[in-house]
Amino acid sequence: MTDTNELTRERAIQTAQNEIVLNAAYIDGNWLTIEAPSTGSDNDKDHALYDPSSAEVIATTRLCTNEHVAMAVNAASTAYASWSQTSTHERAHYLNAIADTMAQRFDTLVGLSVLNNGKPIEEAKIDVSDAIACYRYYADIITNQDTWSEVTTSETGIRLLKTYAAVGVCALIVPWNFPMVTTSWKLAPALAAGCTVILKPSEVTLLPELMLGNILSAIELPKGVVNILPGAAEVGAAMTSHPLVDKISFTGSNVIGEKVMSQAATGVKDISLELGGKSAIVVRADADIDNACDLIIGGIFTNAGQICSATSRLLVHQDIAESLFETLKTKAESLCIGDGFDTATQMGPLVSEQQFQQVKRYFGIATSENLDCITGGKILDRAGYFVTPTIYKNVPVSSQLWTEEVFGPVLVSQIFKDDSEAIHLANDSKFALAATIVSADETTALTMALQLQAGHIWINEQQIVLPEAGWGGFKQSGIGRELGADGLSAYQKSKHVLLTH
Ligand code: NAD
Repeated sequence: MTDTNELTRERAIQTAQNEIVLNAAYIDGNWLTIEAPSTGSDNDKDHALYDPSSAEVIATTRLCTNEHVAMAVNAASTAYASWSQTSTHERAHYLNAIADTMAQRFDTLVGLSVLNNGKPIEEAKIDVSDAIACYRYYADIITNQDTWSEVTTSETGIRLLKTYAAVGVCALIVPWNFPMVTTSWKLAPALAAGCTVILKPSEVTLLPELMLGNILSAIELPKGVVNILPGAAEVGAAMTSHPLVDKISFTGSNVIGEKVMSQAATGVKDISLELGGKSAIVVRADADIDNACDLIIGGIFTNAGQICSATSRLLVHQDIAESLFETLKTKAESLCIGDGFDTATQMGPLVSEQQFQQVKRYFGIATSENLDCITGGKILDRAGYFVTPTIYKNVPVSSQLWTEEVFGPVLVSQIFKDDSEAIHLANDSKFALAATIVSADETTALTMALQLQAGHIWINEQQIVLPEAGWGGFKQSGIGRELGADGLSAYQKSKHVLLTH
């Protein structure tokens, strides 16, 4: 499954310099050069892409303008007429071709992700594998979707048939924490359904995402079906308010999600939102402490805690609390933090200066609130956006660290006396994305899963996401579901045809 690329920073930089088309947008099947701005104002500066392990600039590029959005939407709108009428087999062919090409370029994609996002190699490998699996999954399920299904036939000869049609032109907007993965969760079902797309990757992690343009070009996806716009907030806003866009699928923060939702109101656009989380991990008294600590560590320190479903609130039963915290502290302090390209690294840096400042701000709040920090709460004395794995004990439920999404390697915890208190604490959040239960008693854990407000629940497992499982939350964690059959439904609308003969 690998190409011949070595997984080194030098090699990834070479790829970035020689293969990634910078200063360009992928519109109507071509790389369209983004002209240098002429006004000379501060806003016109080239956009820098960083290596978070060193805080050094890897490359600079230009970002799109509203004119590029208009061109991309027109291209997608024109392409929709033919793409939406292609056979499911043809669409599956292109989805499999994307997956095949990604698999051929596996190490290259992993290298770009480590370079631009900072994540450890092993995590980046999981990401690229998951993205590939997602394209294959939707190729498979669309091939197996019948064009017509018979809903009912009456004795009088009336037949009611059902079919599905593509929603239309879709604006897909993704964040930086899982480049290529979040994109695949939207792009694969959108293409499978017969939609055409304008995709805006995060301006922070453009390198791995722009490689997708090369892949689409290599597989000769029909022109205009997917358009990729490197851009920031202004481009996102232009996409979500464009009158020819039929559907918006957004993954990102709640602050921006609310803006996107109001932008979608104009023209009554269909919308899916995948937003933030503050998920709980519940450790019952019967849990194996060592295993529980591994699940806690994986749930909060993977991707340096920059996961929407990070289990960032630990709830532990009073009978095992002291011994669990002791083991947890030892394990957290033994994690190898460093450069993602070093194969020994278990936790990389935060993705950007902005994210670094955000986590530092929460360390400051924790200090001002006198929270009991059992480990961490520090930045590392080295270049790059590194902070230590951090755990706070007995955090009041009124604390900002308990209620807000930090989006970094910061765990807050509380001790509970029985299952009902654990459920109450877990559900006491404006978010409701995911949860983990650690217990030797599967029956009780399943009962608790019914009571937990969360769209995805792991029992004695953490953070594994299968393409077959719908993804999304309750409450302010979002609207709709990605992945699974629900993920395809998000890009289709049912049509009913009644006929008589
Ligand atoms: P963000 O909201 O800052 O940005 C997300 C995307 O929106 C980026 O591409 C950004 O350029 C774009 N954007 C910014 N302003 C916009 C506007 N006005 N209109 C349209 N688009 C605009 O989020 P982020 O910092 O990139 O990502 C972190 C957030 O994403 C966290 O809150 C995390 O929980 C969430 N997230 C959720 C899921 C999920 O599945 N629920 C998955 C990953 C990340």
